[in-house]
Amino acid sequence: MKDAHGRTIDYLRISLTDRCNLRCVYCMPADGIVQVSHDDVLRYDEIVRLVRVAARMGVRRVRLTGGEPLVRKGVVDLVRAVSQVPGIEDVSLTTNGIALARMAPALREAGLHRVNVSLDTLDTDDYRAITRGGDVRKVLEGIDAALAVGFNPVKVNAVAVRSLRQDYFRFARLSVDKPLHVRFIEYMPIGDSAGCGGAGWGPEDVIPCDEIRQTINDRCAAEGLEPLVPVDDSHKPTGGGPARYYQFPDALGTVGFISPLSRHFCGDCNRLRITSTGGLRPCLFSDNELDLRSVLRNGSDEDVRTVLSRALHTKPEEHEETVHANETVTNMNAIGG
Ligand code: SAM
Ligand code: SF4
Repeated sequence: MKDAHGRTIDYLRISLTDRCNLRCVYCMPADGIVQVSHDDVLRYDEIVRLVRVAARMGVRRVRLTGGEPLVRKGVVDLVRAVSQVPGIEDVSLTTNGIALARMAPALREAGLHRVNVSLDTLDTDDYRAITRGGDVRKVLEGIDAALAVGFNPVKVNAVAVRSLRQDYFRFARLSVDKPLHVRFIEYMPIGDSAGCGGAGWGPEDVIPCDEIRQTINDRCAAEGLEPLVPVDDSHKPTGGGPARYYQFPDALGTVGFISPLSRHFCGDCNRLRITSTGGLRPCLFSDNELDLRSVLRNGSDEDVRTVLSRALHTKPEEHEETVHANETVTNMNAIGG
């Protein structure tokens, strides 16, 4: 599939639910979200049909996200069904990792290829505060389980927020002894998260990735490591996406940087997003949404195809230079990141 700007679109990100077992301060309000009715959420048979049609149009990769995808009942069966769709070569999942230690073996057996685990701090108290109650040990156990069952690559995604004063070096160091791909993502002040449930973060909390890399390199000498060096294309982890990758010399993993705001990555955009209620979003930074659920419930495969094609034609060439707080109104838990 090509969009109107000549980009190849071969990747679908599908949100399975808006619900979550955490309440991260930048993603959800403290008292949770207005719950979407069960009937409005895409059923698994509808998702599989969508993937079949999309695969016939050229989609090769599917990522399941949320909310927290692992809290939706039957997710292992969905993984199995999606990974068996002809043409789909890569099925991945973005998770907070809380339930991963328990579910990793079944997910692997069902055909999941790889996981991204979201983790913003390694400190027990900070993690509890950021996630409003989460236990970081469970996430670390989940990451080890993901490596043990053979997901490859296993990526650890940290949203960088200046006010959080995260220890970037300690994170990056995780990539030395284990084949982990640690990625720093610039915080995006969108939706209600712009007020951050009262945390009061704003655009000044966006830390340019170059600054994070510099902070890591500044610590290297004291910690007995050589500074990060760029990774050539052949050594980038699968599904590298818009990240720029670096590595400590001889490390087993890599350190990546994703800069949605300080560097345009739109030129390489290869994806469409589907919300849990079947909204098709051509761009993360726009609330423009097409209705897939109606055609999945009442239309033919050709109708589904038509909506996907329309999304390709409305995909903007790039998002605005600066995304301001509250410019979009949808929270990240609804879009899936
Ligand atoms: N619950 C899963 C998780 O946390 O990985 C999947 C859904 S979550 C919405 C997907 C990603 O979006 C997570 O990595 C999360 O850190 C990120 N995210 C949420 N709000 C964000 C924001 N305001 N700016 C940048 N990333 C955000
Ligand atoms: Fe849940 Fe993920 Fe949002 Fe955190 S970032 S509240 S884990 S959906």
